[in-house]
Amino acid sequence: MKLPFAESYRIKMVEPLHRSTLPERRQWIEEAHYNLFNLKSEQVYIDLLTDSGTGAMSQLQWAEMMLGDESYAGASSYFKLKNAINEITGFPFFLPTHQGRAAENVLFSSLIKEGDLIPGNAHFDTTKGHIEFRKAEAVDCTIDQAYDINLDAPFKGNIDLKKLEQVYSTHSVEKIPCVIITVTCNTAGGQPVSMQNIREVSTLSKKYGVRVVFDAARFAENAYFIKTREAGYQDTSIREIVREMFSYGDAMTMSSKKDAIVNMGGFIGFRDKELFEQSSVFNIMFEGFVTYGGMSGRDMNALAQGLYEGTEYDFLETRIGQVAYLGGLLREAGIPVQYPFGGHAIFVDANSFLPHVPREEFKAQTLAVELYLEGGIRGVEIGAILADRDPITRENRYPALELLRLAIPRRTYTNNHMNYVAAALINVWERRNTIRRGYRIVKEAPILRHFTVTLEKISE
Ligand SMILES: *Cc1c(COP(=O)(O)O)cnc(C)c1O
Repeated sequence: MKLPFAESYRIKMVEPLHRSTLPERRQWIEEAHYNLFNLKSEQVYIDLLTDSGTGAMSQLQWAEMMLGDESYAGASSYFKLKNAINEITGFPFFLPTHQGRAAENVLFSSLIKEGDLIPGNAHFDTTKGHIEFRKAEAVDCTIDQAYDINLDAPFKGNIDLKKLEQVYSTHSVEKIPCVIITVTCNTAGGQPVSMQNIREVSTLSKKYGVRVVFDAARFAENAYFIKTREAGYQDTSIREIVREMFSYGDAMTMSSKKDAIVNMGGFIGFRDKELFEQSSVFNIMFEGFVTYGGMSGRDMNALAQGLYEGTEYDFLETRIGQVAYLGGLLREAGIPVQYPFGGHAIFVDANSFLPHVPREEFKAQTLAVELYLEGGIRGVEIGAILADRDPITRENRYPALELLRLAIPRRTYTNNHMNYVAAALINVWERRNTIRRGYRIVKEAPILRHFTVTLEKISE
């Protein structure tokens, strides 16, 4: 018999979870104003809100915590992290930051000014927030296939080169400080970008004199998809693929809470010394001195170790395999999910799941609340609430896809938990025709509203 696949680690420390009853959940979600960000963690049984900072560190990472050097300047932890970043990414210069959006804030302070255009593949929400906050515009150049959730294509995170060239050729390049390649493309469903596409974007951008910046939160997962899906990379190691990917870039911003498997942290990688030095000034202003930038020494140690573990093939196979396991259970039950599955999450298509709920009543949010009520599972809306209002007209933006994202933390839950999640969502699926109304917004913030929005249930 062929031996089945099993996890590449075993469990040494456990954390208890709390189950709850339906009446409790009804009360809690009402008190949370139907915003799942407002729930207390003990009100959640299985937390699939995000895979960001929610992973389990390894014994080596915890051992590294004890070795942290907390010197203000020149700590050995800084040099440990510098070596790991050089080795894994190939970028010669780096700045530590407290998380990914801080890296964006520092880098964009050097790069982006009012009126600029920043093309890319479906920018992440904080990235877009930092662009729009500077009165610049994020131009989505993702391939159209990304929005066909049933199309079986291997690299649905790719940038459409025609759309990109259209931006380059119709605007002055002084107004285009960089193109951002997000790997994997979170907003398009954790879909990967092919090496060929990265190469072609780089060639085109060089021709026009535009910098290539990676939003690299899930670079290792992207490398795993290149290895397993792209011709010519089967025998290339994950680390070699990662080095090649980054060789096409001028800089990278990193949320270490994703593929570097730490609970907090980030950094910026630079090829160019001048940009590094310019950004160092902003780092000192916003984050801290350049050898710690918002991170303690122990956290830099754990991050350095996490970069090595996050780029191991066995780990990635376990992780991406678990995401696909959940996706497979849902797909078998006929639930509309994005396919092929992304690397970090399963995306449920709320448009076809809840056809009766009007889009103005936030379909994906409605589905997220129903899944919480059903099983105490917390997912997150990737739909009209997240898409926010148009910065100029202030009208609600309705994206092509209304998705419920079930993000899987790294090394945290077992496949029994995945079975439970699938069963709960199947129960909601079976009563989907009774769900006819959604929610209206009571209160919202002017930017990144999804974190704090309060909602009210619309009765039939
Ligand atoms: C999480 C994430 C960010 C922001 O990082 P934080 O650490 O949450 O601030 C930016 N880009 C992408 C693609 C992300 O997934």
